[in-house]
Amino acid sequence: MLELRPNCEYCDKDLPAHASDAHICSYECTYCTTCVETVLHNVCPNCGGGFAPRPIRPATERRPGVFLGKQPASATRKHLKWDRGDLPAFVEAVRRIPPAER
Ligand SMILES: [Zn+2]
Ligand SMILES: [Zn+2]
Repeated sequence: MLELRPNCEYCDKDLPAHASDAHICSYECTYCTTCVETVLHNVCPNCGGGFAPRPIRPATERRPGVFLGKQPASATRKHLKWDRGDLPAFVEAVRRIPPAER
């Protein structure tokens, strides 16, 4: 089950479960659209993979037991663990390689 993290790992913007501007990599590293487009250029700082829009988990129980009330979003905020000064070089080395070829 996807871990719905509560914030952008780069700028710390709140990204609640219903946020339409949350992006995730395949490891669920989570960033806001602004950071993905203007800072990260579709390169995850943690794994080098690309991003996809995070799906929104329904808040309404339309099927038994599968909704936000039963599997709530995570409350554990994550923060960038890499040196921000080193990040541009990492992004630059990877961003022009299509995610499918990384
Ligand atoms: Zn952000
Ligand atoms: Zn990642």
